[in-house]
Amino acid sequence: MKIKDILRTSSRPFPSLEIVPPLKGITNAELIESIKPFMEFCPRYINVTCHRDEYEFREETDGSFSRHLVRNKVSEAAVCSAIMSAYKVDVVPHMICGGSTADEIDNKLSDLKFLGIENIMALRGDCVVGEKRFVPTEGGYRYASELVEAICAFEKGSDLFSIGVGGYPEKHFEAPNIETDIENLKRKVDAGADYIITQMFFDNEVFYSYVDKCRSAGIDVPIIPGLKPLTTARQVSLLPESFSIDIPVDLTSEIRSAGNDRQAIYNIGTDWCIRQCKDLLAHGVPAVHFYTMGKAENIVRILRECF
Ligand code: FAD
Repeated sequence: MKIKDILRTSSRPFPSLEIVPPLKGITNAELIESIKPFMEFCPRYINVTCHRDEYEFREETDGSFSRHLVRNKVSEAAVCSAIMSAYKVDVVPHMICGGSTADEIDNKLSDLKFLGIENIMALRGDCVVGEKRFVPTEGGYRYASELVEAICAFEKGSDLFSIGVGGYPEKHFEAPNIETDIENLKRKVDAGADYIITQMFFDNEVFYSYVDKCRSAGIDVPIIPGLKPLTTARQVSLLPESFSIDIPVDLTSEIRSAGNDRQAIYNIGTDWCIRQCKDLLAHGVPAVHFYTMGKAENIVRILRECF
């Protein structure tokens, strides 16, 4: 089923779950077992993130260097296909502009159609390691809005895919201001995106204000808040650095007061997320998206408390 139809017909908010493809070497059975704990909640769909291929240079015997593809994760299409056949649940593979030409994107779309996948999360993707700015692939796309256009143009008129896009309540780090970022978000919606999933945030007021700004800018598609429970003290500095987000002082103080007690920190992060989720549900959000990072224990606790 298409996510746009799930969102249109669902009578109550539901959890939306995102997993990261596992490292190569995992068996199909191990992958299926790892997401089994989520099945208790009958998820409407599972998002599977997409990761750019990396290359390494190896020295040959003659002293020259040759470039080699290093793909250390199972592909998102393979993971999606395994999940669909094991659990009969809808899947949402993420697709990124980075690393693919327009023709390669078209080939990926053909594969998704072949697999019977009806949903795509369309993203630009991050810079490759070592680059400060995103560099579009020659013959590929620069912005997610162009990818959305390409997905809509694929077998034009056939309405094959429902498309989700990313939104940033605390602004995408490259945008000069939130207003410009929201204008660019609107480009994605105008290009054909059906709904938005946000970057993680830890202060719900930031999300509510973002939704108001999006609505004022004429964005009328569903906006699904994204949550990630904090699990370690290290994430207090890592998450702002990696995702350009703030962590509220109340949360950092709680974490600090737990000292080196790792279980206490884990519980603080989980409880904070439960409070955020309950408040979002009370404010009438259509769904809550969880960045599970493949870890089920805290997410299961949150889902049991909130849904
Ligand atoms: P865009 O919408 O293209 O925006 C990127 C920047 O360009 C923004 O600053 C925007 O304001 C600006 N911009 C957009 N259009 C224009 C324009 N026409 N002119 C000028 N400026 C413009 N990354 C992955 O690699 N794999 C994943 O699976 C993945 N999943 C994600 C899931 C979610 C829910 C979210 C929120 C992010 C995810 N990301 C993922 C991260 C994402 O790829 C990065 O945040 C990336 O830097 C931006 O992607 P985007 O699709 O938002 O880009």
